[in-house]
Amino acid sequence: MSENLETRPVILTGDRPTGPLHLGHYAGSLKNRVALQHTHKQYLLLADCQALTDNAGDPEKVRRNVLEVALDYLAAGIDPEATTIAVQSALPALAELGQLYLNFVSVARLERNPTIKAEIRQRGFGRELPAGFLCYPVAQAADITGFKANVVPVGEDQIPMIEQTVEIVRRVNRQSGRALLPEPEALVPPVGRLPGIDGAAKMSKSTGNAIPLSASQEDIRQAVRRMYTDPGHLRASDPGKVEGNVVFTYLDAFSDDAEGVAELKVRYRRGGLGDMKVKGHLEEILQRLVWPIRQRRAEFAKDPGEVVSILRAGTEKAREITEATMEEVRSALGLFRWA
Ligand code: ATP
Ligand code: MG
Repeated sequence: MSENLETRPVILTGDRPTGPLHLGHYAGSLKNRVALQHTHKQYLLLADCQALTDNAGDPEKVRRNVLEVALDYLAAGIDPEATTIAVQSALPALAELGQLYLNFVSVARLERNPTIKAEIRQRGFGRELPAGFLCYPVAQAADITGFKANVVPVGEDQIPMIEQTVEIVRRVNRQSGRALLPEPEALVPPVGRLPGIDGAAKMSKSTGNAIPLSASQEDIRQAVRRMYTDPGHLRASDPGKVEGNVVFTYLDAFSDDAEGVAELKVRYRRGGLGDMKVKGHLEEILQRLVWPIRQRRAEFAKDPGEVVSILRAGTEKAREITEATMEEVRSALGLFRWA
């Protein structure tokens, strides 16, 4: 197994440690990571520096969540023997790469990134927009290329980031005169982006519309009960709308029985199927999904020292890899050599 490890495609992905991971992370990215870790060489980055780009005033939150997100990874089935988990702030080569890449992207291009545009609006930054926030796609390009990643499993909101990374890679490669860095590809699941339980476009840690992977049975029950459906569907006998109905979106994302879901949709549209019934079905599916995750989390949480050791070992390994890439880029871009 170890001899062909070198030829496996490389995955780099990660999360901002700003809060517990939720079902959106699971459907958008984590599920793919668990599935691919034995066929790819996988690195996961706890992006604490990136989290500071809009949380510089609350570093304690970011610091605390590094361990929490690591626990979520392990609970969801990330195997530290197969996947390297590293802490971004302990990898200075990534910061150096990002610094160099800033010269290969224009401010106008950064301002055109649709995800950044939406996030700036959502956070109401105005002229107080932190420069680090505007530039975080460049830092992400450094993360991805620092590991020479080929594949990046992400949710739909991250597609513009990968496009921007590819542009930077092409420019750096052109300047280097060779294909030094691979062009990464985004791996986006069919669900694309999981909406919040309130029907908002995205389930997100920062907006309180999420079901965390660490949710209790009761939390899940309550969240499903509160879930946005079709406001026009008042009685079970009324015909209901499936589009924009969060319960059906979640059934599409989490049920293994596509035919059964299609059947439910027909009955709901026709009238005669109540919200409580569909919600009951969804709740059962979610409880079954989260139960083993919760159990594993509780096991790992008993020994935080062991989780820190996993992060330390992963970060050491990641440091070597990212420093090697940094050396290559530095020399390819023609910086001074200390011969
Ligand atoms: P924050 O609100 O702090 O930005 P977040 O919930 O957006 O947090 P991130 O850490 O920014 O989470 O995203 C980590 C990964 O999870 C990314 O690949 C992102 O695309 C994916 N992801 C996050 N939320 C969703 C969602 N609702 N549906 C699908 N994928 C998601
Ligand atoms: Mg985000």
